[in-house]
Amino acid sequence: MAAVPVIHPDNQRTQPMTVERTLAILKPDCVRKNLIGEVIRRIQEAGFRICALKMVKLSRQEAEGLYAVHQSRPFFEELTTFMSSGPCVPIVLEKENAVADYRTLIGATDPAEAAEGTIRRDFADSKGENIVHGSDSAENGRIESNYFFPEHVIVANA
Ligand code: GDP
Repeated sequence: MAAVPVIHPDNQRTQPMTVERTLAILKPDCVRKNLIGEVIRRIQEAGFRICALKMVKLSRQEAEGLYAVHQSRPFFEELTTFMSSGPCVPIVLEKENAVADYRTLIGATDPAEAAEGTIRRDFADSKGENIVHGSDSAENGRIESNYFFPEHVIVANA
Protein backbone atom coordinates (compact mmCIF):
# COMPACT_ATOMS: atom_id res chain seq x y z
CA MET A 1 0.00 0.00 0.00
CA ALA A 2 1.23 3.56 -0.72
CA ALA A 3 3.32 5.37 1.90
CA VAL A 4 3.17 9.15 2.16
CA PRO A 5 6.24 10.82 3.72
CA VAL A 6 5.43 13.24 6.52
CA ILE A 7 7.51 15.16 9.04
CA HIS A 8 7.16 13.57 12.46
CA PRO A 9 6.32 16.35 14.97
CA ASP A 10 8.60 14.99 17.71
CA ASN A 11 11.90 14.51 15.94
CA GLN A 12 11.37 16.30 12.59
CA ARG A 13 12.55 13.18 10.76
CA THR A 14 10.74 12.19 7.60
CA GLN A 15 8.62 9.11 8.37
CA PRO A 16 6.18 7.24 6.15
CA MET A 17 2.50 7.48 7.13
CA THR A 18 0.70 4.39 5.91
CA VAL A 19 -2.55 4.48 3.99
CA GLU A 20 -4.96 2.32 5.99
CA ARG A 21 -8.44 0.95 5.61
CA THR A 22 -11.05 0.74 8.35
CA LEU A 23 -14.63 -0.49 8.52
CA ALA A 24 -17.36 1.96 9.46
CA ILE A 25 -20.90 0.75 10.06
CA LEU A 26 -23.78 3.19 10.17
CA LYS A 27 -25.82 1.30 12.78
CA PRO A 28 -29.62 0.71 12.72
CA ASP A 29 -30.26 3.83 14.86
CA CYS A 30 -28.38 5.94 12.30
CA VAL A 31 -30.58 4.55 9.50
CA ARG A 32 -33.80 4.98 11.54
CA LYS A 33 -32.92 8.60 12.33
CA ASN A 34 -32.36 9.40 8.63
CA LEU A 35 -28.75 10.33 9.35
CA ILE A 36 -27.03 8.28 6.62
CA GLY A 37 -26.38 11.33 4.45
CA GLU A 38 -25.18 13.58 7.29
CA VAL A 39 -22.79 10.97 8.70
CA ILE A 40 -21.32 10.15 5.28
CA ARG A 41 -20.93 13.89 4.63
CA ARG A 42 -18.88 14.27 7.83
CA ILE A 43 -16.78 11.21 6.97
CA GLN A 44 -15.98 12.54 3.48
CA GLU A 45 -15.35 16.05 4.77
CA ALA A 46 -12.72 14.55 7.10
CA GLY A 47 -10.85 13.22 4.08
CA PHE A 48 -11.87 9.56 3.99
CA ARG A 49 -12.34 7.87 0.62
CA ILE A 50 -15.18 5.33 0.24
CA CYS A 51 -13.95 1.99 -1.17
CA ALA A 52 -17.11 -0.11 -0.65
CA LEU A 53 -20.62 0.62 0.65
CA LYS A 54 -23.98 -1.15 0.89
CA MET A 55 -27.12 -1.43 3.00
CA VAL A 56 -27.76 -4.78 4.66
CA LYS A 57 -29.98 -6.19 7.41
CA LEU A 58 -27.95 -8.52 9.61
CA SER A 59 -29.54 -11.68 10.97
CA ARG A 60 -29.09 -12.31 14.69
CA GLN A 61 -26.49 -14.95 13.85
CA GLU A 62 -24.55 -12.55 11.57
CA ALA A 63 -24.54 -9.87 14.29
CA GLU A 64 -23.24 -12.44 16.78
CA GLY A 65 -20.46 -13.38 14.35
CA LEU A 66 -19.46 -9.77 13.77
CA TYR A 67 -19.23 -9.06 17.49
CA ALA A 68 -17.94 -12.50 18.55
CA VAL A 69 -15.08 -10.80 20.42
CA HIS A 70 -17.68 -9.41 22.87
CA GLN A 71 -19.40 -12.78 23.39
CA SER A 72 -18.70 -12.95 27.12
CA ARG A 73 -19.66 -9.33 27.84
CA PRO A 74 -22.91 -8.61 29.73
CA PHE A 75 -24.17 -6.38 26.90
CA PHE A 76 -23.68 -9.00 24.14
CA GLU A 77 -27.36 -9.91 23.81
CA GLU A 78 -28.46 -6.27 23.84
CA LEU A 79 -25.80 -5.42 21.25
CA THR A 80 -26.65 -8.23 18.83
CA THR A 81 -30.41 -7.64 19.22
CA PHE A 82 -29.85 -3.99 18.37
CA MET A 83 -27.49 -4.66 15.45
CA SER A 84 -30.02 -7.05 13.89
CA SER A 85 -33.02 -4.78 14.55
CA GLY A 86 -32.95 -3.01 11.17
CA PRO A 87 -30.78 -2.20 8.18
CA CYS A 88 -27.25 -0.90 8.65
CA VAL A 89 -24.70 0.53 6.22
CA PRO A 90 -21.18 -0.96 6.26
CA ILE A 91 -18.58 1.23 4.53
CA VAL A 92 -14.91 0.50 3.85
CA LEU A 93 -12.93 3.73 4.30
CA GLU A 94 -9.39 4.56 3.27
CA LYS A 95 -6.99 7.32 4.21
CA GLU A 96 -3.64 7.82 5.91
CA ASN A 97 -4.01 6.82 9.58
CA ALA A 98 -7.63 5.80 8.90
CA VAL A 99 -8.21 3.70 12.04
CA ALA A 100 -7.22 6.33 14.60
CA ASP A 101 -8.58 9.30 12.61
CA TYR A 102 -11.98 7.66 12.18
CA ARG A 103 -12.17 6.85 15.89
CA THR A 104 -11.38 10.50 16.65
CA LEU A 105 -14.16 11.57 14.25
CA ILE A 106 -16.80 9.33 15.90
CA GLY A 107 -15.77 9.91 19.54
CA ALA A 108 -15.90 7.69 22.64
CA THR A 109 -18.20 4.65 22.86
CA ASP A 110 -20.45 6.43 25.38
CA PRO A 111 -21.82 9.62 23.76
CA ALA A 112 -21.84 11.31 27.18
CA GLU A 113 -18.05 10.94 27.23
CA ALA A 114 -17.48 11.74 23.54
CA ALA A 115 -15.73 15.00 22.62
CA GLU A 116 -17.76 17.92 21.31
CA GLY A 117 -18.32 17.89 17.57
CA THR A 118 -17.91 14.11 17.24
CA ILE A 119 -20.56 12.03 15.49
CA ARG A 120 -21.53 10.08 18.61
CA ARG A 121 -21.70 13.19 20.80
CA ASP A 122 -23.95 14.92 18.29
CA PHE A 123 -26.27 12.05 17.36
CA ALA A 124 -26.09 9.03 19.71
CA ASP A 125 -28.61 8.31 22.47
CA SER A 126 -26.64 5.86 24.59
CA LYS A 127 -23.58 3.63 24.87
CA GLY A 128 -25.56 0.81 23.24
CA GLU A 129 -27.22 2.82 20.47
CA ASN A 130 -24.26 4.89 19.41
CA ILE A 131 -24.85 5.49 15.68
CA VAL A 132 -21.58 4.13 14.25
CA HIS A 133 -19.06 1.32 14.48
CA GLY A 134 -15.34 1.70 13.84
CA SER A 135 -12.58 -0.91 13.69
CA ASP A 136 -9.97 -0.79 16.47
CA SER A 137 -6.98 -1.79 14.30
CA ALA A 138 -6.03 -2.07 10.63
CA GLU A 139 -5.97 -5.86 10.94
CA ASN A 140 -9.47 -5.96 12.43
CA GLY A 141 -10.53 -3.44 9.78
CA ARG A 142 -9.54 -5.95 7.10
CA ILE A 143 -11.29 -8.85 8.85
CA GLU A 144 -14.47 -6.84 9.49
CA SER A 145 -14.48 -5.42 5.94
CA ASN A 146 -14.27 -8.94 4.54
CA TYR A 147 -17.25 -9.90 6.72
CA PHE A 148 -19.34 -7.72 4.40
CA PHE A 149 -17.28 -7.35 1.22
CA PRO A 150 -15.05 -9.89 -0.55
CA GLU A 151 -11.68 -8.34 -1.29
CA HIS A 152 -12.37 -7.98 -5.04
CA VAL A 153 -15.31 -5.59 -4.51
CA ILE A 154 -13.28 -3.20 -2.32
CA VAL A 155 -12.04 -0.69 -4.88
CA ALA A 156 -9.08 1.66 -4.91
CA ASN A 157 -10.58 5.17 -4.85
CA ALA A 158 -7.64 7.56 -4.67
P1 GDP B 1 -16.41 0.92 20.20
O1 GDP B 1 -15.12 0.36 19.63
O2 GDP B 1 -16.29 2.36 20.62
O3 GDP B 1 -17.61 0.68 19.31
O4 GDP B 1 -16.69 0.14 21.59
P2 GDP B 1 -16.45 -1.37 22.06
O5 GDP B 1 -15.62 -2.14 21.07
O6 GDP B 1 -16.02 -1.33 23.48
O7 GDP B 1 -17.93 -2.00 22.06
C1 GDP B 1 -18.57 -2.37 20.85
C2 GDP B 1 -20.01 -1.92 20.89
O8 GDP B 1 -20.67 -2.60 21.95
C3 GDP B 1 -20.22 -0.44 21.19
O9 GDP B 1 -20.10 0.39 20.06
C4 GDP B 1 -21.61 -0.43 21.76
O10 GDP B 1 -22.59 -0.44 20.72
C5 GDP B 1 -21.68 -1.75 22.49
N1 GDP B 1 -21.41 -1.54 23.92
C6 GDP B 1 -20.21 -1.33 24.54
N2 GDP B 1 -20.39 -1.17 25.87
C7 GDP B 1 -21.71 -1.31 26.08
C8 GDP B 1 -22.53 -1.26 27.27
O11 GDP B 1 -22.07 -1.05 28.39
N3 GDP B 1 -23.88 -1.44 27.08
C9 GDP B 1 -24.44 -1.68 25.86
N4 GDP B 1 -25.76 -1.85 25.74
N5 GDP B 1 -23.70 -1.72 24.72
C10 GDP B 1 -22.37 -1.54 24.85
